[in-house]
Amino acid sequence: MSNERIFRAGQIWCGDDVIIKNAYVVVDGEGRVKAVDAGTPRSAADPINFGDDATLLPGLIDLHVHLVWDGSAHPRGKAETESSNLMTMRAVNHARQTLLDGVTTVRDVGGPYGVPQDLAQAQRLRLITAPYIVAAGPAIMMTGGHGWSFGREADGVDGVRKAVRQAIKEGAEVIKVMATGGVYTEGEKPGQSQLNVDEMAAAVVEAHKRGLRVAAHAEGREGIKNAVLAGVDTIEHGCFLDDDTAALMAERGTYYVPTVSVFTQMARSGERSGIPDYVLEKSRWVADATWESVRRAKRYGVKIAGGTDAGSPLHPHSPLPQEVAMLVDCGLTPLEALSAATAMSAEALGIDGINGKITVGSYADMVAVQGNPLVDIQALFHVKRVVQHGNLID
Ligand SMILES: [Zn+2]
Repeated sequence: MSNERIFRAGQIWCGDDVIIKNAYVVVDGEGRVKAVDAGTPRSAADPINFGDDATLLPGLIDLHVHLVWDGSAHPRGKAETESSNLMTMRAVNHARQTLLDGVTTVRDVGGPYGVPQDLAQAQRLRLITAPYIVAAGPAIMMTGGHGWSFGREADGVDGVRKAVRQAIKEGAEVIKVMATGGVYTEGEKPGQSQLNVDEMAAAVVEAHKRGLRVAAHAEGREGIKNAVLAGVDTIEHGCFLDDDTAALMAERGTYYVPTVSVFTQMARSGERSGIPDYVLEKSRWVADATWESVRRAKRYGVKIAGGTDAGSPLHPHSPLPQEVAMLVDCGLTPLEALSAATAMSAEALGIDGINGKITVGSYADMVAVQGNPLVDIQALFHVKRVVQHGNLID
């Protein structure tokens, strides 16, 4: 095949515990992996060689980003005073940076004016250089709930059902609901429950009917449990996860997206970072709790996936390598942390089989890093090149 491309590296981590030394990947004209093997490829095409010191791994998948926010001290304030055009152009830059950092797929869990959905379309039309984007559009919250100023307020089973249908009509490919308060809405506590079990269950029924998944922002203990009982697919943040709910999540197969780096980053930043006092205070409270939640989730065998809350205060695009490194600090092995941000994230998105591993038939979304991240996770910060659907990204 003339359109065939071959990529070679000192080693390839394919996902799971499959590591091939002195290895190469053959990619077909459709951008899918045709073969993975060791040694010298028998093909007419010259291999693109990342070097003996390089590890080629599946492209990273960030399940929790906000492409419209810029990760400054107060990104929402900026977003609310800018035109949607300017917001879009800013978001295009964030998306490009994210891809260059080795993140080949993102799930955007909240942004206004249809911008995230349009970015997703623009990427698929190859109008922009960006990761593959699965977008929620505006999140759904109770009246006055977490993030109400940039989301869609809905109350009661009928109200939430209508809001989900409206979101799908506007191009949502995942539904985001707010089960509790959060860190960056003034006046509310992260622990307080918001949408009720029956309201979120209605969202789950509507979304699942259309084959879409539901992500729940859930920080407090009761709200996390409410969201799990309602049948959501992923718990975002999960700062105050308790033993009972961790056991329930493991039993039901609910994914946990800790976003531990965003809270830790804010908590460590100090007063001079420019973030509002109420954000600093709340982030200190939830950061330690989230570290504990990650350890608890691991103990109970909860499926932990990779997500960052990129774009939030002091969290510029793309912080996924930082999140993965922090999961290792929390007690995951490098293999577990890397799997969280690749295969497990793909599974949580429902794109396993075509993404999240380097296997025959999967899309050739890959990142070459210098060093071996399975030994030293810091290698993730040393990206050599990114391959998207078999194309080298410049
Ligand atoms: Zn978020």
